[in-house]
Amino acid sequence: MSEIKQLLSNNEAWSEQIKKDDPEFFNKLAKQQSPEYLWIGCSDSRVPANQIVGLLPGDIFVHRNVANLVVHTDFNCLSVLQYAVDVLKVRHVIVCGHYGCGGVDAALGNQQFGLIDNWLGHIKDLAYKHREELSQLNSHDKSARMCELNVMEQADNVKRSNIIKDARARGQFVQIHSWIYSLRNGRVTDLDNSPKGFKHD
Ligand SMILES: [Zn+2]
Repeated sequence: MSEIKQLLSNNEAWSEQIKKDDPEFFNKLAKQQSPEYLWIGCSDSRVPANQIVGLLPGDIFVHRNVANLVVHTDFNCLSVLQYAVDVLKVRHVIVCGHYGCGGVDAALGNQQFGLIDNWLGHIKDLAYKHREELSQLNSHDKSARMCELNVMEQADNVKRSNIIKDARARGQFVQIHSWIYSLRNGRVTDLDNSPKGFKHD
């Protein structure tokens, strides 16, 4: 079987299994979605939103890009955020980065990769902002710390957006979370509850 045919075959088996567990599952979802969570994560294939937090289709609205950036001029990410907050009324926005992020590591190095270098420039700016702290660290720790700082910065960008400010001004409940995922053990750390950060992967 070709690689692509295998995927379609996997899909058929997955669909049948879900229907076996809950015959009405797809019928209910086809009518509407009402997720409570927006996930802004990295495109990295090892960090799939639903699986990490054990949620089914319909439970989490997802936006992923290289290095989980929230850029004030990125209409793709902002449109997702606006729709999730204003229309779907999600209660939680989770910005989830991960240790060992290739985007972060690329931004810390000097190698050029093409168009994506412009995107990664946002992380280079962040590294410059924290250059004093980072200069004290060895390369492994520098990468880990930058992954954490990047998550917290992007979560701050969400908080500073007009979308969140407007939602809060009209009394809507919406919480922003900074999470980081370990590729080594599959565990998420909530950086909001470890203010000093640097859990060290
Ligand atoms: Zn990544």
